[in-house]
Amino acid sequence: MLKGIDIGGTFVKVLWEDGRKQKYPLGELKEDKERYLERLAEVILEGSPKGVGIAVAGFTSKEGVVAYSPNIQVLNGVNIRELCATHGVECVIGNDVTVGAFGEWYHDHRDARVLTFVAVGTGLGGGLVIGGAPYDGVSGTAMEIGHHTIVVNGWQCNCGRMGCWEAYCSSYGLVKMYTTLGGENTRDYEIIERAKRGEETALRAVEEFKKYLTVGLMNLVHILNPDRIVLGGGVIEGMGDLIGDIEERVKKVAQDLPGSAVRISFSKAGEFAGARGALALIKQRIADS
Ligand SMILES: [Zn+2]
Repeated sequence: MLKGIDIGGTFVKVLWEDGRKQKYPLGELKEDKERYLERLAEVILEGSPKGVGIAVAGFTSKEGVVAYSPNIQVLNGVNIRELCATHGVECVIGNDVTVGAFGEWYHDHRDARVLTFVAVGTGLGGGLVIGGAPYDGVSGTAMEIGHHTIVVNGWQCNCGRMGCWEAYCSSYGLVKMYTTLGGENTRDYEIIERAKRGEETALRAVEEFKKYLTVGLMNLVHILNPDRIVLGGGVIEGMGDLIGDIEERVKKVAQDLPGSAVRISFSKAGEFAGARGALALIKQRIADS
C-alpha cells in the first residue's frame, strides 16, 4: 500500500491509500538530530509501504535533499530519498505547498489547466500545477510567492527580508495588523473569532489582511494567468465567510482578460492537504512506471 507523508514543524502527518490518518508529534525531537531522523525513518517505514510521497515544509531539491527548512532545521542537508532507498522504499519528495497544489488538482480540479494553490498559515506558501504536472522550477524551489515583495521597505518578514507578502498575509502578519490598529497582542485565531463576533478592531484587521491578500492574488493572476486559484491553510480556513468575497475583489482589480479567466475557491483538504498531495504524487509515479 502507498502512503503520503507531510513533514511539518510540529507534526508529521500520514495519509494511507485506504484513508487512514495518523499524526506523530516529531516536533518534540527537533533538538536531537539523531533521534529525529531515527524516528522519521520509523514513521516512513511503518506498515511496510510499497511507496511513499513526502511533502516537506521547506526548500527541497530535485535530488530529494532538504536544502533548507526554516521550521525544521534538523532536516537541513538531509537526503530523504536516500533514506527511503536504503530501506528499499520508492519515494517522491517535494515542497509541501507544491505537493499540496498537485493534490488539489488530482482530487478536486482535474479540469484546471493552470492551478495555483496559496496556503496561508504560519507562513505563506504557493504551488503551481500546469497541465496536471507540478511546476517546481530549475532547482525545485519555484513559487516562493510568500517572499515576493509587496511593499518596498515594508514589514519585517520571517525570512529576513522586508515587505514580503507573508509579512502581511500570515498568522503573524494578521497579529501585527491587529496590534498596529490598537488591539492587544493575541493569537491569530483569537483575532478571527473576535472579528466573527463583530469586534471592530478585529474586523478592521481582517479588512487590512484582505487588502494585501487581494493585491498578492492579483499579482499571481497577472503573472501566471491561472484558471483556478485554490486558497487553503489555517488562517484562510479559520476566516471562512469573512473572505467569501475574495474572488469578486480580485476580479475587480485585475486586468479584465486574465481576471475573467480565473475562479478562486477554497481547499477542502484541511490539515492533511500536504499528505493528500504527497499520496497523489506517489500514486501517479507508480501508475506511470
Ligand atoms: Zn519573506
